[in-house]
Amino acid sequence: MRILVVGGGIVGAAAARLLAADHDVLLLEKEDRLGAHQTGHNSGVVHAGLYYAPNSLKARLCRRGGDLLRAYCAQRDIPLVELGKLVVALDPSELDALHALGERAQANGVRDLRVLDAAGLRAIEPHATGAGALHSPHTAVVDFAAVTRALAGEVREVRTNSAVRRIHADAAVELETGELLAADRVLVCAGLQSDRLARASGQPREPAIVPFRGDYWRLRPERAHLVRGLIYPVPDPELPFLGTHLTRRLDGEVWVGPNAALALARERYSRHAFVPRDAAAALAFPGTRRLLAHHWRAAVRALRAGERTAIRYIPELTPGDLERGPCGIRAQALERSGTLLDDFALARAGPVVFVRNAPSPAATAALAIAEELYERLR
Ligand SMILES: Cc1cc2nc3c(=O)[nH]c(=O)nc-3n(C[C@H](O)[C@H](O)[C@H](O)COP(=O)(O)OP(=O)(O)OC[C@H]3O[C@@H](n4cnc5c(N)ncnc54)[C@H](O)[C@@H]3O)c2cc1C
Repeated sequence: MRILVVGGGIVGAAAARLLAADHDVLLLEKEDRLGAHQTGHNSGVVHAGLYYAPNSLKARLCRRGGDLLRAYCAQRDIPLVELGKLVVALDPSELDALHALGERAQANGVRDLRVLDAAGLRAIEPHATGAGALHSPHTAVVDFAAVTRALAGEVREVRTNSAVRRIHADAAVELETGELLAADRVLVCAGLQSDRLARASGQPREPAIVPFRGDYWRLRPERAHLVRGLIYPVPDPELPFLGTHLTRRLDGEVWVGPNAALALARERYSRHAFVPRDAAAALAFPGTRRLLAHHWRAAVRALRAGERTAIRYIPELTPGDLERGPCGIRAQALERSGTLLDDFALARAGPVVFVRNAPSPAATAALAIAEELYERLR
C-alpha cells in the first residue's frame, strides 16, 4: 500500500517510520529540514504523565509513548537523561491542589512518585523554596528534533521543500507546485497548519488552531548550578499549559519558560513576528474572543509569568541572572464556543486521517500516537 505522510515533525516522522515497516511510505515536509516548528522549539521534556485526565488519549499515549521513546533512544544511542522533576507548592495554599495532582498521577500509573515536605524538596533541589512538592524521578530531557531526524532516517523516501496544498477525496496529494501524488492512504500531521490543510481538503473548519507563543529565558551559565533538574509550578486549572518552569537541558543550560500569549504569527519566531493572515485568523475566530473573555485573568498571569517565576522558586536568583532565550509556538485546537480541546484529536475521512490536535505532551507520546494512527488507517 502507498501511504503519504504530510508533516515532518515528530508525530509525522514517528508514524512514517512505523508504517514504513510494511508499506511504501513517502514523508513530505514543506520546510527545508525536519522538526522545524513545534518539534524543534520546545522544552525537551519527556513527560511522565502526571497531569492528564485518566483514560484520555493524552494519559494513555503519554505513558506508552514515554516507554517507547526511552527504548528507541537507548537503541539508537540518542541521549535521554532522567533528571527528575519537582512540582512545587510555593506555600500551604497550594498543597491541596498538589495532593490532587498526586492522586491523578497515581491513577495514571506514574512510577515512583513521592510527596515531599519542604526539607525533602530541598534535599533534591537545595536552592529551591516551597511548602512541599511532588517528585517524579523518571521525567527526562531529550532533543526531540534529533529523535525526529533519527526516525525519518528509517524511512526510505523523505521529501523536504514539498508543501502540500490539499488532499483530494481519492487520497491524491496535491503539492503547492500543482504536482499530484497518488496514494492509497494519507496521514496529515501538519501541526500549526493542521486546520488550514484540513479545510483546504474539504474537512470541517473547526476545531481551529490558535497559536500560543511561549518565550523562554536562560539562566546565565555561572548561575545554572542553582537548578539540578526540572522545577514546575502547581498547574493553573484555568489554562491548558503546564506553567512556566525551570528546565535543565541536555547541554547544561537552564531555561525558564515558556509563558503563554496569543501569537500573531504561526511559524515565525522573532520577537515581534507578525503575519497579517495568521493574526487576522486568530483574532477573527469567535472562539478566541470567547476564550479571552472567560480567561483573561489567567491569560494575564500566564503572560507575566516569566523571570518572576524563576525568582519565586529560586530566591537566590535576581533579574540580572536571566537573559532572553528562544521561543516556541504551540498549536492549540479551539472550538467556536471558546473551549480548548484538551485531548489529542485524530479524525478519519475515508482514506485520510487528520491529526487535529497534538499539543504537549505529543512529542513525548509521538511513538504511541503513531501506533494509534496506524490502527486508524487500517
Ligand atoms: C513552547 C513549547 C513547549 C513544549 N514542550 C514540550 C515538552 O517539553 N514535551 C512534550 O512532549 N511536548 C512539548 N511541546 C509539544 C510538542 O512540541 C508538540 O506537541 C509536538 O512537537 C507536535 O509534533 P507535530 O509533529 O504534530 O508538529 P510539528 O513539530 O509542528 O510538525 C508539523 C510539521 O508539518 C509541516 N507542515 C505543515 N503544513 C504543511 C504542508 N502544507 N505541507 C507539508 N508540510 C507541512 C510543518 O512544517 C512542520 O514541520 C511543546 C510545544 C511548545 C510549542
